[in-house]
Amino acid sequence: MTVATDTRALDVLADFPAIPEGWAYLDTAATAQKPKPVLDVIARAYGETYATVHRGVYQRSADMTLAYEAARRRVADFIGAASPDECVFVRGATEGINLVAQCWAGTQLRAGDRILLSALEHHSNIVPWQMVAERIGAHIDVVPLTDDQCIDLDAMAAMLTDQHKLVALAHVSNVLGSVLDVKRAAQLAHGVGAKILIDGCQAVPRMAVDVRDLDCDFYVFSGHKLYGPTGIGVLWARGDLLDAMPPYQGGGSMIDRVTFEKTSYAPPPGRFEAGTPHIVGALGLHAAIDYVAEIGLDRIHAHETALVAQAREALSQINSVRLYGPEDSAGIVSFSIQGVHPHDIGTILDEEQVAIRAGHHCAQPLMDLLDIPATARASFGVYNNAADVAALVRGIERVTRIFG
Ligand code: PMP
Repeated sequence: MTVATDTRALDVLADFPAIPEGWAYLDTAATAQKPKPVLDVIARAYGETYATVHRGVYQRSADMTLAYEAARRRVADFIGAASPDECVFVRGATEGINLVAQCWAGTQLRAGDRILLSALEHHSNIVPWQMVAERIGAHIDVVPLTDDQCIDLDAMAAMLTDQHKLVALAHVSNVLGSVLDVKRAAQLAHGVGAKILIDGCQAVPRMAVDVRDLDCDFYVFSGHKLYGPTGIGVLWARGDLLDAMPPYQGGGSMIDRVTFEKTSYAPPPGRFEAGTPHIVGALGLHAAIDYVAEIGLDRIHAHETALVAQAREALSQINSVRLYGPEDSAGIVSFSIQGVHPHDIGTILDEEQVAIRAGHHCAQPLMDLLDIPATARASFGVYNNAADVAALVRGIERVTRIFG
């Protein structure tokens, strides 16, 4: 099988020193490789300009504080937030969701209230809600999927009641690549007075996101999937919601005044950033946002859409391959091969210099729904091209030969 040349190739592979020639890295949905501008910012921050933030009276620390807060402004601009104060630096999407579960849901929900999730959510958008629901006596409902494996918004419309106080959904599924119509989901949630949290982990690296245009209430994402460092992510929340939320953790930096009798808290976002933050992580995220913005999210989206189409077309010609997710899935192709465990697919592909993910992708309820233990998943990033798709397809053809 030959794969057509990708005319939209972004030609940025040389920016990624950790991708050796001939290695097809197809695991960007797990974590993205880092471009040189991000590596340079990290090396310079630790190697030349390093100091703490928010506390120092010396120039170096004041400069670092400016850089840290400039990163927050860059994030706000990137996702269309009304103010940088609406952007809380967290460890990643997981921490962002836990923060909302504890500080918003944990204080706003009452026994008998309901939370609506979907059947394709990542464990990090399931377990934090279960923990808070159990504590409070709230209930969780699950929106099913359509035949083409997208979140079924018609079903959601029929399920929503005024007992629902929160809807939490993935913008793009990390397994299926299905893209949610966030605006419609928000409209439906708001129609019954519920808030809506969007897990933007897989969306932010591959499409332009404007949180105010989407009209959601909370939006979370991780820096490391956006070509930035690990250990840094963003929780965006509408200012009025953040203002009303109690702190997540106690410690330095999140206070206004501390005495042994009583402590008053800083306003957001500081209230939610106890302790010395991941300073260099924020600077690296800033560089990563600059990097993708310079390429252009629309170009990245078109590029990945072309690669997904090539991969799906080529894989669909192999009889024993079963593809999951909708035709227009964003950057992600999940598949299985009849009679072959996905881990064996991953191991054989590794011998062919093709790195994919095999497993349940932290979405066990989705695997149960599909009645499979795992899938093989190829996911694309800015550095991939038609040669990577061709290597994937050659590898799969070898798998099918080996397993007869
Ligand atoms: N949601 C989705 C859709 C994801 O793909 C991931 C990461 N696989 C997460 C949440 C959790 O992100 P992190 O582990 O960076 O906190």
